[in-house]
Amino acid sequence: MSPRPFIVAIDGPAGAGKSTVSKLLARRLGFALVDTGAIYRCVALMASREGIAFDDDAKLGELLGRVRIHFQVVGEENHVFLGTEDVSGEIRTPAISMGASQVSGRPVVRAGLLALQRRLALETEAGAILEGRDIGTVVFPDADAKFFLAADPEVRARRRFEELFQKGVDSSLEAVLTDQTQRDAADSERTVAPLKAADDAVRVDSSSMPLSDVVRTLEQEIERRRAARGG
Ligand code: C5P
Repeated sequence: MSPRPFIVAIDGPAGAGKSTVSKLLARRLGFALVDTGAIYRCVALMASREGIAFDDDAKLGELLGRVRIHFQVVGEENHVFLGTEDVSGEIRTPAISMGASQVSGRPVVRAGLLALQRRLALETEAGAILEGRDIGTVVFPDADAKFFLAADPEVRARRRFEELFQKGVDSSLEAVLTDQTQRDAADSERTVAPLKAADDAVRVDSSSMPLSDVVRTLEQEIERRRAARGG
């Protein structure tokens, strides 16, 4: 039996730099990247298109059986596909961000997406980086390396705003900060799988750290653990 792929868990609040750091790390290490936030966003998008309320557990439960998601690197970006449709842009609107935060608080949704997240990671060859809120605590409590990325709220909002701007999504810094504060509160206060660092996660505060230093810090820790695991 071949050994399990090397699993890296990267958790943290919105805008802490998880996406950028994960993308760079995945490319440098030759690992697959599983953006679990994008999975919750796809559920919110499907619900919104079908007129399903974000707290309608019965209909959300039925919808989960029809979720077909895969990731594919297109150019420099990790694109998200719902079936054959590339929804990478559509899932990033403020409305879908709030929807994702709401559906992610429903236990039926969290339970329904657990197997999908694990499968996407375990079907990879060398290894996988999973970024989210509960990877190190719930999805892969036995991950080979766990990180919790943090940063000051203002710094995070500014980064998110720049990211949306580059993607052509119309927004303002104030709106991003308000949305982020609400999502942080909802994600941290929910009873099921709240946003929190695993006890054994390496904490990295990226507020005043250049991106390259953050990536290097994580990469060195991953390489140390890979060597200890024997590859
Ligand atoms: O990371 P991103 O901002 O794309 O995540 C969107 C939303 O999905 C988050 O605000 C959070 O509510 C939810 N989420 C989650 N658990 C994860 C990943 C995302 O609850 N592992």
